[in-house]
Amino acid sequence: MEKIVALAKRRGFIYQGSEIYEGITGFWDYGPLGVEFKNNLKREWWKYMVYDRENIVGIDAAIIMNPKVWEASGHLKAFTDPLVECKKCNKRFRKDKFDEYWEDFYKKVGRGGVKALSKQYEDIYYCIDRKNPHKEEDLTQEKKFNLMTEVFLGVTEPKQKTYLRGEITQGVFVNFKNIVDSSRVKIPFGIAQIGKAFRNEITPGNFTYRSREFEQMELEFFIKPNEKEGEKWFSFWKEERMKWYKLLGIKSENLRFRNHEQDERAHYARFATDIEYKSPFGWSEFEGIHHRGDFDLTNHNLKYKDPEIEEEYTPWVIETSGGVDRAMLFFLVDAYHEEEKRIVLKLHPKLAPVKVAVFPLVRNKKDIVSKAKSVYKMLKAHFVTAFDDRGNIGKRYLAQDEIGTPFCVTIDYETLGKQTVTIRDRDTMKQERVNIDKLEDYIKEKLT
Ligand code: ATP
Repeated sequence: MEKIVALAKRRGFIYQGSEIYEGITGFWDYGPLGVEFKNNLKREWWKYMVYDRENIVGIDAAIIMNPKVWEASGHLKAFTDPLVECKKCNKRFRKDKFDEYWEDFYKKVGRGGVKALSKQYEDIYYCIDRKNPHKEEDLTQEKKFNLMTEVFLGVTEPKQKTYLRGEITQGVFVNFKNIVDSSRVKIPFGIAQIGKAFRNEITPGNFTYRSREFEQMELEFFIKPNEKEGEKWFSFWKEERMKWYKLLGIKSENLRFRNHEQDERAHYARFATDIEYKSPFGWSEFEGIHHRGDFDLTNHNLKYKDPEIEEEYTPWVIETSGGVDRAMLFFLVDAYHEEEKRIVLKLHPKLAPVKVAVFPLVRNKKDIVSKAKSVYKMLKAHFVTAFDDRGNIGKRYLAQDEIGTPFCVTIDYETLGKQTVTIRDRDTMKQERVNIDKLEDYIKEKLT
């Protein structure tokens, strides 16, 4: 993880939020490469979930809603995490995560054993002097801590209190009727959304994994309210979502499903499964698939008139809810490879922030440099393209490998005569000679 965090900062993927003012816990800024990567990820999700299907439409709801939404949805009462405090060092923890980390800790060092572990665990394991492990008996009674972030609106006192959304989901439910009335969707159908959510997390950490501001990508899929349909669509979306991560290159051995026990399910879920990733800090949630039943539409007093059977009913909902930031983090982790002579991010070409880099073989030959510039301009019209004429070719390859650029094009002496360039593949490091006229199609084909 430390290597990923360092690479992310060094190359402009992710920076600590407000860094020049000592940062602010749980907030991150995405740099020039990070924003490209994130946009690619969201675009791929949207294509797979919306454009490639016939029964799914999109929405982009507001972040701030009337507080009555959160009252009806149950979030003001039940969107809580269990909070405990250590009476000795006053650190606060999420009790369920505390228990989980301890299990892991004992596995690593044995009961009673104390050993220096990776920095990211220190807070949770150690009390006061970083030598003694926390003790269960020093923890306060568990309290329910609400994760919603309050905001105050208006110019006169008392200001109107509302919330930054804790999940993007409710924006879909409150627009259910609008969408049914204004588009031609018929059950079964889905509404997809990508957007920011905010949670006042007790223990933000593990880089962007648990942030206070993050993005979610969600599908709410509305079905007829019966058990058979529920089972069918729950299992359909479980498999579809797992397939998406694999299609974009996450190694199968690093993915698994984990069903939620009844006592850990969110207040809205009839049943729930997580897609988990084998991360450097243990198996961790990528995305949740939830059977929300009719919980939300009933709370908002919304129904659906089925034109086929001319009956009114409250549909059930199967939800797939993933985090953009978590996905990005795990795609980075999974793609990170250290080889003998290089660090390489083996990102799926569709996710790679830069698709192709163009180099003049030498920088002191005018003809070569100007040819390289013209190839760069040509490619830039179609792909995110970099130009690099610093140092030697070997160093330029290494710099592109480290950010996952799938192709590097070099303009050399032969280019001037034969109009061909070399194109080097990031993973195999093999080079081919390709005619400049064919370059665009060559790269397009490889990218798809
Ligand atoms: P956790 O148990 O890790 O707190 P959760 O089960 O509460 O997560 P959901 O409410 O199901 O999470 O949210 C759906 C998705 O949103 C998660 O799978 C995750 O990818 C993302 N997500 C949730 N909380 C955060 C967070 N604090 N930081 C980054 N992503 C998050």
